[in-house]
Amino acid sequence: MIIHNTLTKTKEKIVPRENKKIQMFVCGPTVYDYIHIGNARTFVFFDVVAKYLKYRGYQVDYIQNITDIDDKIIQRAKENKKDPLMWAKEYRQKFEEDMKALGIDSPKYVPATEHIGQVVKQVKALIDRKHAYLIEGDGWYFDLSTFKDYGKLSGRKAQMADDAVSRIDENDKKRNKGDFCLWKLVKVGKELEIGNWKLEIADGEPAWATPLGWGRPGWHIEDTAITEHYFGPQYDIHGGGQDLIFPHHEAEITQQESASGKKPFVKYWMHVAFLINKEEKMSKSKGNFTTVHELLKQYPKEVLRFYLLSGHYRQPLEFSDKALKQARAGIQRIKELTKKLENIERNKNDGIVAYALREAFDEALTDDFNTPKAFGAIFEFIKRMNTDLTSDSIGQKGAEEASQMLSYINSILGIVPDTQDEIPPAIEVLVEKREKFREEKNFKESDKIRTQIQNLGYEIEDTIYGSLLTKKSS
Ligand SMILES: [Zn+2]
Repeated sequence: MIIHNTLTKTKEKIVPRENKKIQMFVCGPTVYDYIHIGNARTFVFFDVVAKYLKYRGYQVDYIQNITDIDDKIIQRAKENKKDPLMWAKEYRQKFEEDMKALGIDSPKYVPATEHIGQVVKQVKALIDRKHAYLIEGDGWYFDLSTFKDYGKLSGRKAQMADDAVSRIDENDKKRNKGDFCLWKLVKVGKELEIGNWKLEIADGEPAWATPLGWGRPGWHIEDTAITEHYFGPQYDIHGGGQDLIFPHHEAEITQQESASGKKPFVKYWMHVAFLINKEEKMSKSKGNFTTVHELLKQYPKEVLRFYLLSGHYRQPLEFSDKALKQARAGIQRIKELTKKLENIERNKNDGIVAYALREAFDEALTDDFNTPKAFGAIFEFIKRMNTDLTSDSIGQKGAEEASQMLSYINSILGIVPDTQDEIPPAIEVLVEKREKFREEKNFKESDKIRTQIQNLGYEIEDTIYGSLLTKKSS
């Protein structure tokens, strides 16, 4: 298995720290609203990473944190006159439902507010080792002059305009410009007791009573507190969106390596690129169209996963109606083949599936999770299977073998839909006939069939994954 490591900027062979055990952590969402399809790209991708590593024989321990205390949550809850912790709880639940609906079942979700004790412990270690200082009435900060390696992941030390930053990291009294908040102090009035913790909601801001003072965690500290608790001070893979490399992941390295004195904190760093939206009008006119929650109402999970995995994870991926249409067409091809395989006559003369989809698929994924290359192998397979099915050279055994391959691919990528659907067999036959004419560049005949299909109440469009059939809305 080869992966690209952001830390070394090279492709490296995966060698776990201990035998075949892989401890993997991926930055999860801040739960103040429904998540964007761009975040889902990261989560679907690492779901595939976890599943594939397991298939390769690794024991994968995969954790994703849930940021359920943060400025954005407090602000959004205030606007809606709700309690921030209840607000976060509600959106955490919605997030987990959406992930399940997307077929993501590999991570264990760990919320920050259930690990306040670990956060306090780590901040205290940083204070004891003289890496942290107090700004009275504001909070505990990390002193960046005490950590020489700052910048080793991202190659930079200073913030740029489009970096993801937190408001709570700003204060004129900081020792160094980039110092970040570890523990934010909150002024409180009266106290409440919830579970083991004294809790106060002061002017809508939740605060915990701790030896550091009443307050709440900074943005970066929850990740390292959580991973130190579950994995120890060092582990194998840390993932996230590309936008988190600086300052967030740089800060994580700084905190954990300073708190424990052990290097490296994480052996392999993997980052997923952005979605780009060229059709800006789409998101503006359709409002929340780009949340996973809304998209799941319009597209089956297989289509969304297909789309999100259709580009290489380190390359930007275009988000557009066209791209989603292509994904739908791709899923239709897979579905058609699955159906044909199910309907193969028993005891028919047996053929074998001579081409090795599995080898080509594994070759693509073992090389830095090259999903587009894996898709290429799948579609080559579909094409050849269709030819063999047409020439009647596949029997029951061959069909079973092919079905097993598809089910293997599905267990990793989650892109094989179930076969029940609405398209009548007569139309499917026409679509296939038309496809063949198109391949032969006989456009006169293919156009004739298009008209026939339209007259039967269906629309047909051509995409890079073949034709896409949709029922005309009456
Ligand atoms: Zn994080």
